[in-house]
Amino acid sequence: MTAQDFVYVCRPQLPDAEAIVAYIRGIDARRHYTNRGPLVALLEQRLAAALGRPDHTVRSTASGTSALEVAILAHAGLARPERPLALIPSFTFAATGLAVERCGYRAHFVDVDPEDWCVDAAALTQHPLIGQAGLVVSVAPYGVLPDMAALETLQDATGVPVVVDAAAAFEALLDRPETISAKLPMALSFHATKTFSTGEGGGIVWDDPAGQDRSVQIANFGFFRSRECKLAGTNAKMSEYHAAIGLAMLDTFPARRRDYAAVTAQYHAAQAAFLPQGRLHLPPRLSSAYALWEAADPHMLMRVETALSEAGIETRHWYEAGLQAQLHFAGAGRAPLPVTDRLGAQLLGLPMGHDLPLADTERMMQVMQGALDAIPA
Ligand SMILES: *Cc1c(COP(=O)(O)O)cnc(C)c1O
Repeated sequence: MTAQDFVYVCRPQLPDAEAIVAYIRGIDARRHYTNRGPLVALLEQRLAAALGRPDHTVRSTASGTSALEVAILAHAGLARPERPLALIPSFTFAATGLAVERCGYRAHFVDVDPEDWCVDAAALTQHPLIGQAGLVVSVAPYGVLPDMAALETLQDATGVPVVVDAAAAFEALLDRPETISAKLPMALSFHATKTFSTGEGGGIVWDDPAGQDRSVQIANFGFFRSRECKLAGTNAKMSEYHAAIGLAMLDTFPARRRDYAAVTAQYHAAQAAFLPQGRLHLPPRLSSAYALWEAADPHMLMRVETALSEAGIETRHWYEAGLQAQLHFAGAGRAPLPVTDRLGAQLLGLPMGHDLPLADTERMMQVMQGALDAIPA
């Protein structure tokens, strides 16, 4: 196998030097490098415009994780002794659990729905520990948006603030901007592995001007109109350099989305030809950063995973076996989590990218088919 044959599960391509140089020259001329400079303001404006929303709707941060922390502090504040828990799904990336901890909450894991992979908002209204919860975080797993109206009802009915980890849901918001809420902040990630990226970066999407003012304040040490720290904050500011990358990426994002759509179509075609077993989960239900294969059982998944690895085709368990299965969260509270356990053992991240060659998709499907055919009936 040559190096060229290796297929990466994710091989991001951000704007090159040519594409960002004009923005960088502007930074050189202004000598304004961070603290909400003009490029950050322009990026927020252009993202809000892309969503068809007023400027305040988008506020940038240094990462998706910091967006989540700032959104939690702006909406729920630090944990209080009488409500120490945050109810969060176990089916998510590590950042969800770490962010609630940074804000002083103790994570308590709840399972997700087998169909939409999100927490069941109606069930959480009746959760035995809701009276000890100061925060609920709902996740948009792989960019699949939760039922926002049901989450608003949960928040209204219980008084417990709800924040949405929508890290991978930027495209979902572009397609369905009506899901943007005035009541619930959503945290986005602009990490290089996400479809829209600033290298590292993130954003809070929230149609609440006062809430977004708090987000800005919290992301800048709790300062507001002076250098006095007025509330629990942090440094979560996006720099002008990261904004430059985002602006250059936005300049060509429509073409990027068309490229992703073409690769998604290849996946659909290849599946029809080669892979009747199992189930593929693809964009546009998911973010274009992901193609997932759901095996009928864990044994089938291990066979396929091994065969792909031997063929030089990289795969990934993006959320591992769930947060509850990871060392740091081993002591966290939880009920049984059968759906997370099953998804953890049966969902496999396949290679995805805007420039994934058709030949690679076809070779991957052939390797998968071969591995499945080798399983005794
Ligand atoms: C990517 C991701 C994050 C973290 O975002 P960063 O920008 O890497 O900090 C958090 N939650 C989920 C669900 C993610 O997919």
